[in-house]
Amino acid sequence: METLAPLAYLVASVCFIMALRGLSHPESARGGLMYGMCGMGLAVLTTLLLPNVVSYGWIVAGVIIGGTIGTIIAMKIQMTALPQLVAAFHSLVGLAAVFVAAAAFTNPEAYHIGVAGNIKVASLIEMSLGVAIGAITFTGSIIAWGKLQGVITGKPLTFKGQHLLNAALGGLLAFLIVMLCTTQSAFLFFLVIVLALALGVLLILPIGGADMPVIVSMLNSYSGWAAAGIGFTLHNNLLIVTGALVGASGAILSYIMCKGMNRSFMNVILGGFGGEQTASAAASMGDRTAKIGSAEDAAYILKNASSVIIVPGYGMAVAQAQHALREAADLLKKEGVKVRYAIHPVAGRMPGHMNVLLAEASVPYDDVLELEDINRDFAMTDVVYVIGANDITNPSAKNDPSSPIYGMPVLDVEKAKTVLFVKRSMGSGYAGIDNPLFFADNTMMLLGDAKKMTEDIVKALEH
Ligand code: NDP
Repeated sequence: METLAPLAYLVASVCFIMALRGLSHPESARGGLMYGMCGMGLAVLTTLLLPNVVSYGWIVAGVIIGGTIGTIIAMKIQMTALPQLVAAFHSLVGLAAVFVAAAAFTNPEAYHIGVAGNIKVASLIEMSLGVAIGAITFTGSIIAWGKLQGVITGKPLTFKGQHLLNAALGGLLAFLIVMLCTTQSAFLFFLVIVLALALGVLLILPIGGADMPVIVSMLNSYSGWAAAGIGFTLHNNLLIVTGALVGASGAILSYIMCKGMNRSFMNVILGGFGGEQTASAAASMGDRTAKIGSAEDAAYILKNASSVIIVPGYGMAVAQAQHALREAADLLKKEGVKVRYAIHPVAGRMPGHMNVLLAEASVPYDDVLELEDINRDFAMTDVVYVIGANDITNPSAKNDPSSPIYGMPVLDVEKAKTVLFVKRSMGSGYAGIDNPLFFADNTMMLLGDAKKMTEDIVKALEH
């Protein structure tokens, strides 16, 4: 088996690369997941058959307990709670890296990396980096989970000199790692863990709720690099490859999100965005009044349009309105209306959030267009149906330099003849800022739950 294992690991690595490739488009995503499952199945089986596995009892118990908990959570979880679930799972990857490194440090003979007090320096470096990144990932992910779940306030928790303190702790951590590699002291090893755990908390606390998805993706990247570090310690090529794939894809995803919000990565990391409405945005609302319409009004306007663009956002996901939405679109198409969907890169709470929901409702892929492909069409469109979206349409991003979202690319929905906004209230979106578009002359607010309102529009269209 030992000679076959590298080949099996190579096949598993290729499966993981194919999985990532498949997941890049909704049409190929299912195939991508199959590749991922086959790769993981092969990797686990190969590892279990290796001669250095001494007992199956603990492994079987772990698989049964962990598998049961994972299955129950996966079956119960709401689509909108996925970001916090991902954060919670990342914390476990970080913790696993810490445990493996601690096991290797205390019993190096078992890992063929030397003897206690005389561990190979290369292994010590890999191990200490893995343990530090793993510990930061562990506590950082728990804080991210708490903020997304609402257990901890989404407001940035800041104090004077915070960045200086974090930088000093980061420097101290690097120093302790160097000392650990030279002295092999067990005390220093556990000091590195404690310091990294504290740093994880301090790094994530000042970051506002609106930036949490980027942070979750960044922590995902960290957990990958921690796994890769441990892969070196364990001499496990598959863990190195898989860790690097997770690390690199998480970093790319963070970059895509930052680009979608027109923010630099440093700007996100240094925190302080989101959670509170800015005074300037609140004041700009004045005492203007909005036009409020009904489902019947909306059905009439939609039916008499020749082109309609649907802009889905987070509220569509909350209401699970995608099926009703497709029904309404089908009815309009039957009437000869041209219907398309405009997807903003950060609509919802994770990249691809809207694409997944629309695919679930069997919306044809050709009808779904990205921001850069559809933005100039709004000016030639009769009606825009904005369903549960807010920030991604907010013109303040273009014309109010004091707005926290200034510079973020937004969908130019206000250029259409009529804009219909479906949401439950006049409240703000995730960035916590008001949207002046609600009061525009060509806007009609349809106040209500996105699914209920769309179903009522379907009923009105049918009559
Ligand atoms: P927003 O959070 O801006 O707005 C969603 C709106 O949906 C809310 O104003 C809310 O208004 C409404 N809503 C909530 N529930 C319902 C419901 N049941 N029925 C009808 N409406 C509902 O979402 P967007 O998608 O427009 O923008 C995404 C935001 O998330 C951006 O700020 C983006 O930067 C941020 N973000 C996204 C990331 C991503 O990867 N997708 C990553 C990082 C940040 P009301 O309460 O009045 O109903």
